Amino acid sequence: MHWDNYGPVEVRHVQPYQAVKVYRCPGCDHEIAIGLGHKVVVPVDSPDDRRHWHTGCWERQTRRNPRYSA
Ligand SMILES: [Zn+2]
Repeated sequence: MHWDNYGPVEVRHVQPYQAVKVYRCPGCDHEIAIGLGHKVVVPVDSPDDRRHWHTGCWERQTRRNPRYSA
């Protein structure tokens, strides 16, 4: 599922010490470095489709799509 089709989501903050893998942020298509605090966005209806986002990229996304900020 593409993130643009997510319904309700749960957003979890990942602390820097928890960031032990490199992830690719769907917001900017760049990597999220190990040791960088970021967000995990989990679709409530489809938890397996969770994605890791840069905090700033996710915040830009919620401003464009206010339904995500609930
Ligand atoms: Zn990003």
